[in-house]
Amino acid sequence: MPLDVPAIRSEFPIFRRTINGKRLVYLDSAASSQKPQAVIDAMVHVWSHSYANVHRGLYTLAEEATMAYEDARAKVARFVNASDVAEVINVRNATEGINLVAYSWGEQHVHAGDRIVITELEHHANLVPWQQLAKRKGAKLAYIPVTDDGLLDITVLPGLLDDGRTKVVACSVMSNVLGTLPPVVEIAAMAHAAGALVVMDGAQAAPHMPIDVQSIGADFLAFSGHKLCGPGVGVLWGRRELLEAMPPFLFGGDMILTVKREDSKWNALPYKFEAGTPAIAEVVGLGAAIDYLTGIGMPAIQEHERRLLPYAIARLSEIPELRVLGPGPAERGAVVSFTLEGVHPHDIGALLDEEGICVRAGHHCAQPIHDRFCIPASARASFYIYNDENDVDDLVAALRKTVSLLARR
Ligand code: PMP
Repeated sequence: MPLDVPAIRSEFPIFRRTINGKRLVYLDSAASSQKPQAVIDAMVHVWSHSYANVHRGLYTLAEEATMAYEDARAKVARFVNASDVAEVINVRNATEGINLVAYSWGEQHVHAGDRIVITELEHHANLVPWQQLAKRKGAKLAYIPVTDDGLLDITVLPGLLDDGRTKVVACSVMSNVLGTLPPVVEIAAMAHAAGALVVMDGAQAAPHMPIDVQSIGADFLAFSGHKLCGPGVGVLWGRRELLEAMPPFLFGGDMILTVKREDSKWNALPYKFEAGTPAIAEVVGLGAAIDYLTGIGMPAIQEHERRLLPYAIARLSEIPELRVLGPGPAERGAVVSFTLEGVHPHDIGALLDEEGICVRAGHHCAQPIHDRFCIPASARASFYIYNDENDVDDLVAALRKTVSLLARR
């Protein structure tokens, strides 16, 4: 069943507003998605009805807040098919989740002369933490290259794994620039066969497709709530035995069992990795976002974007000055980065804004992949459940207007 996009749009209050007198065409969900009323209501309900700190008080409000917070964790666990709810760690965002692994696991297991393998298409969040770990440890950082078609060239991987020095392979499940869907299951199988750990950046994938951590081959998977209709909170899922063996990343309240003057003992999972007061209403909001998305159905969402993406690429390709980056529609998710000959992406962004259209312009926190294609920046249109062909048509019309306007100048 195709998604009823007008009905979905009506559930997002932001689409009632206009931008510069035009209807809002929101094409920047890869940066952050809009929020349905159900998520806003869930957070307001916590604050106005059941708010207190969690895991501490013995009074009714504290128990209600704790139950809502832990109920949301259970929803996240089901959403990614975790076998154990204690494997779900609430963090600030995907960035913090990856940093947690790079510090806690990385400091213990990566040594001088070891290798960390990442890919050329990583977001800085899955690049800089590994680059800096490698620097601190005197380890090597190796990149799986991207082909001219925007695909990963995994033929280099056996050569990077066969000496047994690779400790970790970190890879995005979907690129935020090219939309590329790397063969993560295959990469994980190769990495595991060579004794390396696999960290997956699910920030772009989790909002758009079903994720099953038990079959995808990840040891850790990080993603952000704000890209999947939820608020600003993130998730790190990790395999229990790995998390059990890891030292805490942050120290303080709630992550301890006992504290004496000279030493402390750590709390059980997942609390060992949740120092201090968490983002309580945000975590509950994430649970509501997951309810909302699973209500629509993740396979249906994936199918909707699989239908919209070829239409978007075909329509954009009608503009002779426009170059779409990345692979063909069959091998990517619903993110389309492009350049327009003679027009700086920032000007594209500003001119589209006059038409009520929101796109991202810049390097999208992924400089190495732009360097790979010898461009400093690009414009990016990204699609989600509330977008349809009308949005694509408005984008194409506005881009044509941009081209003719700048040609006249
Ligand atoms: N990885 C990818 C692929 C992303 O697109 C993003 C967000 N742009 C991140 C990681 C980081 O997400 P956050 O800023 O929520 O930590």
